[in-house]
Amino acid sequence: MSNNILEAMFKNNAAWVANMIAEDPDFFARLAKQQKPELLWIGCSDSRVPANQISGLLPGEVFVHRNIANVVSPTDTNCLAVVEYAVTVLKVKHIIVCGHYQCGGVQAALSGGLSGHVGAWLDDLREVYERHRDDLSGLPETAALNRLCEINVAHQLTRLCRTDLLRDAWQQGLTFSVHGWIYSIEDGLLKDLDLTVSSAEEASRL
Ligand SMILES: [Zn+2]
Repeated sequence: MSNNILEAMFKNNAAWVANMIAEDPDFFARLAKQQKPELLWIGCSDSRVPANQISGLLPGEVFVHRNIANVVSPTDTNCLAVVEYAVTVLKVKHIIVCGHYQCGGVQAALSGGLSGHVGAWLDDLREVYERHRDDLSGLPETAALNRLCEINVAHQLTRLCRTDLLRDAWQQGLTFSVHGWIYSIEDGLLKDLDLTVSSAEEASRL
């Protein structure tokens, strides 16, 4: 079974290449020269939320960082390196922190009982839940989870905007905005949570 899947991947890849070249003969030659994406996507690792596919973007159009529950931790070198490269080298115009409803990582933080690396990773999210526990307690289970998914996007966006990295970039005159979006696995639709931040001054008010 798994071998069939792997074989299918190579077959699909060859078919995709043929299709791309038929539509745009220079596509790969152009991409090979440089990447110049205007977007950085920070999303969840969930297999149901692939950045390019759900937003109709081609290879070359979005720089991507994904981890469980779209966490932006000020101590995560991996995430900070991606953001630094995107902002200072690629000079992206938009950073999208995109969560999704029914996020397993957020659910795990809400349910507790976490252990291992996943538990350590979601430690901060657990604290976010504790801070909002009273507000969430009146909601039905699914609504509470989905509300916490939205709160998580706002929390991660705030932490990102408060990093020295972004503050310095804005103060040096780089122009870019940070957006908070959420994706619904049930209907496939993206929603803007209207949290956009476009300057160090706006970030300082978060
Ligand atoms: Zn998730």
